[in-house]
Amino acid sequence: MNKKTYVLHAEDHDRNIFDSKYVYPVVSRRAGGLSLGVNLNTNNACNWQCIYCEIPNLTRGGPEPIQVELLKDELNFWIDQIINSNFLKENTPPGTTFADVALSGNGEPTAAPEFLEVLEIIIASLKEHKLIDNIPVRLITNGSFISKKKECLNIFNRHHGEVWFKIDAADEDFIKLINQVNLDPNSMINNLKTCAETCHTVIQTCLLKINHQVPTNDFLKNYSKLIKPYEQLIKKIDLYSLARPSLQNNQDITIERLSLDELNHIKNILQKQLTIKIDVFP
Ligand code: SF4
Repeated sequence: MNKKTYVLHAEDHDRNIFDSKYVYPVVSRRAGGLSLGVNLNTNNACNWQCIYCEIPNLTRGGPEPIQVELLKDELNFWIDQIINSNFLKENTPPGTTFADVALSGNGEPTAAPEFLEVLEIIIASLKEHKLIDNIPVRLITNGSFISKKKECLNIFNRHHGEVWFKIDAADEDFIKLINQVNLDPNSMINNLKTCAETCHTVIQTCLLKINHQVPTNDFLKNYSKLIKPYEQLIKKIDLYSLARPSLQNNQDITIERLSLDELNHIKNILQKQLTIKIDVFP
């Protein structure tokens, strides 16, 4: 039997399927439905350069100035499409529902000077469409600028929003290898604490086979040790691996996707060291 292929499905996160600059719908496994993404990094620039990043032509840097009025029009257009037309039925697998508005994109969203203004626009648009507090706003972040965004975190908190905070490794050397950034794990964990003390925070951890080697017991022990003191503050951990091929040119490094069995095995190891809920996404 032929299986219908929908324009939007979890294996394809092409942000250019539709003709919008900032706002793009995707079907997201981790969000559990249709996620309306807001991309503030249309120039594909990020302050990190993760070896598994799926952004094409990724460069180092911050976003270009945002055309706020255009973003607002696109956001209102897409919310209207999702709730007042057959868009979901015609473009997504059966049963897909509107899951969230996600500040994510082709780089680190909190690097945009207009971040607060955009967040306020999203909240206003959700209010206008009577979706506020029903459809959560999520921030997908590497956490680097979070300590300067307390006002924004308070807004997320007021409207049951959530922050998905990236922690891929606990050792400085592995952070350097995986995220391609010089970062003291203590400063990363301080940013996590600031975030989690203010609003719902989920740790997002991408695990890989690097040069054919699965994460070692020492790697996992250090990861647990870093998170352990804060686990009461954190909602849960999402473990996942490469969903789509990396678009980075990783000279001298081979990266491969971990199988579901390998991810579950790692979850079992971590779950012996942490009481926090851990979910696995293949
Ligand atoms: S933080 Fe996100 S956008 Fe930036 S390089 Fe890493 S995966 Fe890509």
